[in-house]
Amino acid sequence: EPSAKVIDGKSVAKQIKEEISAEVSKLKEEIGVVPGLAVVLVGDGKDSATYVRNKKKACEPVGINSFEVHLPDDASEEELLKFISGFNGDLSVHGILVQLPLLSNILNAVTIEKDVDGFHPLNIGRLAMQGREPLFVPCTPKRCIGLLHRYGVEIKGKTAVVIGQSNIVGMPAALLLQKEDATVPTVHSRTMNPEEITRQADIIISAVGQPNMVRDNWIKPDAVIIDVGINPVEDASSPRGYRLVGDVCYEEACKIAAAVTPVPGGVGPMTIATLLSNTPSSAKRAYNIK
Ligand code: NDP
Repeated sequence: EPSAKVIDGKSVAKQIKEEISAEVSKLKEEIGVVPGLAVVLVGDGKDSATYVRNKKKACEPVGINSFEVHLPDDASEEELLKFISGFNGDLSVHGILVQLPLLSNILNAVTIEKDVDGFHPLNIGRLAMQGREPLFVPCTPKRCIGLLHRYGVEIKGKTAVVIGQSNIVGMPAALLLQKEDATVPTVHSRTMNPEEITRQADIIISAVGQPNMVRDNWIKPDAVIIDVGINPVEDASSPRGYRLVGDVCYEEACKIAAAVTPVPGGVGPMTIATLLSNTPSSAKRAYNIK
């Protein structure tokens, strides 16, 4: 019988959005500042256009101003830098997102005060160092830790295994868990016997991109599992011909874990909320408001 608690990202996202709206209204009333989020999109990729459109659509209901620049695939670096430095100096902009087809040194160009994606090497460096705090933390891992907090999961002193070590999810997730005094082994594509390592884990965060990779024999009884993976698998019964599953075999995890995030409905719905929350925080910092 399934016994795991289902971690509900949708309801947490709703709470976060309400908190952001309240924070934005307060900023408006107290100092007349409307937080602004700028998006610089390069290339014609369908996925990144959707991502950017969703971010933009999410700003309006919580009262954040949104700005956008869309450049073609063959835009020059010089042109791109011109827009970024324009937003760096623009007082109505408090957060800048750069959506590029490839990660590049352009990420260094966003001033760290407005790096709401948290991808600037200085922000990552501060995240890794003892006694230093980043100005922003990458959103997806921040969300994973946020879910653990909101569900009252103890992190300090626990073994938390991160599967995946990408710059945008796995690596910063491991650093965040270390900052919270967990012991953090990581598993990647060349790890031998990964299930022996994950079986030690009180907490598993998986960000791989392999459907149903984490089976019941990878999981310690009563572990807490955060599944970041979003993987399409063929499904003739769905009108689209596919459905989305996580990296973790959900049905099996439900029988052995203490709590688990569903896919979809776990980490995914919080993407936008977490990202938005960085923009009013940035505006508050710019005006020295607690
Ligand atoms: P990447 O492809 O950049 O990284 C995948 C990581 O998984 C790599 O570190 C890779 O190891 C590791 N890996 C690959 N195969 C295996 C394996 N068989 N066993 C163990 N580790 C393996 O992906 P991202 O980090 O960008 O994203 C991961 C997943 O999360 C994707 O499914 C993506 O769609 C999803 N995602 C979801 C988000 C959300 O909002 N929910 C946001 C961002 C991503 P190595 O380093 O050795 O190559």
